[in-house]
Amino acid sequence: MRRLLLWMARNAWLRRVIPRLWFSRRAVRRFMPGEDAESALAAATGFGAEGIATIFTRLGENLTEIAEADAVAAHYLTLLDQIRERELDGEVSLKLTQIGFDLDAERTLEHAGRLADRAAEAGRSLWIDMEGSAYVEGTVAFYERLKADHSNVGLCLQSYLRRTAADLQRLLPVEPEIRLVKGAYDEPASIAYRSRREVDANYLALCVSMLEARKAGRSIRIGLGTHDVRLIEQVAEHATALGLPRTSFEVQMLYGIRMDQQRRLAGEGYVVRDLIAYGEAWYPWYMRRLAERPANVMFALRQIVG
Ligand SMILES: Cc1cc2nc3c(=O)[nH]c(=O)nc-3n(C[C@H](O)[C@H](O)[C@H](O)COP(=O)(O)OP(=O)(O)OC[C@H]3O[C@@H](n4cnc5c(N)ncnc54)[C@H](O)[C@@H]3O)c2cc1C
Repeated sequence: MRRLLLWMARNAWLRRVIPRLWFSRRAVRRFMPGEDAESALAAATGFGAEGIATIFTRLGENLTEIAEADAVAAHYLTLLDQIRERELDGEVSLKLTQIGFDLDAERTLEHAGRLADRAAEAGRSLWIDMEGSAYVEGTVAFYERLKADHSNVGLCLQSYLRRTAADLQRLLPVEPEIRLVKGAYDEPASIAYRSRREVDANYLALCVSMLEARKAGRSIRIGLGTHDVRLIEQVAEHATALGLPRTSFEVQMLYGIRMDQQRRLAGEGYVVRDLIAYGEAWYPWYMRRLAERPANVMFALRQIVG
């Protein structure tokens, strides 16, 4: 089921057809408050009142024209201004392919630098998502270059990849901000752990090494991008054993998923950020959310009848 859904996420014909179906538009509402930035900002204001911070992401990936990247960057500059005007604890996370990485890496670097500068004006960071494995080396190297001139940028790493432990060690000298996720793409066993047990074990091991680096005095921001509460609790136990406070890491979850846990953790003093996605290009992103949990497919199908 997971592989089928991930194949569907990449299929160009389905990408055109499915978003036009009324029931899929209705089903996707479970994972996003609306397609426009205003819906996301309004949702973030509500979360702010509950002590939950936000990450905004406008959905979209691989572009065909560099002018589209310029428009995406301009959109995010405006969004960062709105976040600041509304005094939200909000950050932006984007995919490099969304700001032209396939077409012009230097222009992408300029865009990312400008966005990081704008985020810095409000004392916030800019996050870079991690995409499929073909982009991983390029994205890590891009992050190193960007980080050389901008201290306030974070990078997503994926625990299903065998290379991630080495990437983490490689990045420690640049004082990174890391969001660790399990990984959302369909990767082969030659480069990725395929069993849940291995992915989770690597997730925990990577978290422990980030906490140990912090304990040893390294500057590293640790974000746990997962809904796996059992793993979060294990990480919290390791932090306590090392004498680190609960605020030595933050929990980042997606809008609409385990909201009860997001509220509970925020109430218990953890730093929680809810990632709110918005935008019209939601199809591949939504299919990856379905692939993560087969029960979501039943939820989507029920929208046809109910
Ligand atoms: C803030 C954030 C940013 C992310 N950024 C990236 C990125 O840049 N690159 C990337 O490859 N991946 C990214 N992901 C996705 C990530 O890789 C996983 O695919 C996703 O988080 C599901 O794995 P999990 O860690 O929640 O654990 P799982 O073991 O998959 O899930 C644990 C539990 O959480 C709940 N759950 C998980 N997913 C869903 C869902 N879709 N619907 C309903 N319940 C669910 C279920 O109760 C499940 O039992 C991001 C995830 C988050 C939270």
